[in-house]
Amino acid sequence: MMIRILVAAAALTVAPSAPAQQTDWVKVRAEWNQPMAPFRILGNVHYVGTAGISAYLLTSPQGHILIDGGMAESAPLIAANIEKLGFKLADVKILLVNHAHWDHAGGLAELKRRTGARLLASAAEVPALESGRSDYRPDISISAPGVKVDGVLKDGEEIRLGTNTLVTHLTPGHTKGCTSFSTQIPSGGDSLTVLFACSLSVADQPLTPGHGYDAAPADFRATFAKLRATQADVFLSFHAQQFDLALKRAKQVAGDTEAFVDPGELRRRVDAAQAAFDAEMQRKTNR
Ligand SMILES: [Zn+2]
Repeated sequence: MMIRILVAAAALTVAPSAPAQQTDWVKVRAEWNQPMAPFRILGNVHYVGTAGISAYLLTSPQGHILIDGGMAESAPLIAANIEKLGFKLADVKILLVNHAHWDHAGGLAELKRRTGARLLASAAEVPALESGRSDYRPDISISAPGVKVDGVLKDGEEIRLGTNTLVTHLTPGHTKGCTSFSTQIPSGGDSLTVLFACSLSVADQPLTPGHGYDAAPADFRATFAKLRATQADVFLSFHAQQFDLALKRAKQVAGDTEAFVDPGELRRRVDAAQAAFDAEMQRKTNR
């Protein structure tokens, strides 16, 4: 929800009492759903999302893992992107999701139908995934097609499929079960850590008790601390703007094979997210 955060930040610097602008979701969705040609990021990690909303395919000879489904209208684009790279939808065996909001989980039901994959998610995301609605998110009324969860992931759990190994990192705050994942990509004689980071934005949450997620502030702080103690060579997230996808891809196309490698990026992203969170907390408590 980058747009909402920018609006909130602008309102904060200019006039704290200015009314929030209405987001034109029809327009935003159309922009986010612009097609993007799929490509290999590095190792067995491929980008198969749209221009605005990410989806990642981790491939192995024994089957593939797809992280995220984008919006409902993104599913056909993601499926086509997988096939454009030469992979078969039927070889996608596991579906994952960073969190259960409509812009990341909306395409899961259709992608599950097309691939036959099992959907694994953290326990706290199951109700929203299966109902298609986030009960403690008051800002917008867009729902996602409900999708059945086939297995529950715990913090630190390893997801293995062929030569793929992903580690689950629960990073709640943006939602109760916001889930990041990491994997190791061999590089020279060493390996690179790739982090698929769950959203870190407040995104219109009240952050005050009585709205269905009283632990949100504590969860955000714990997640920031956890990610500060995490090392990642490649920071990937689920909104293109949140990790400068277009810029990095342009560098890669121009010949920079390390365009996505930046060991300092995770820390910078966490610092920025925490600053936005702190400002939002201050704004709410000063009301
Ligand atoms: Zn979200």
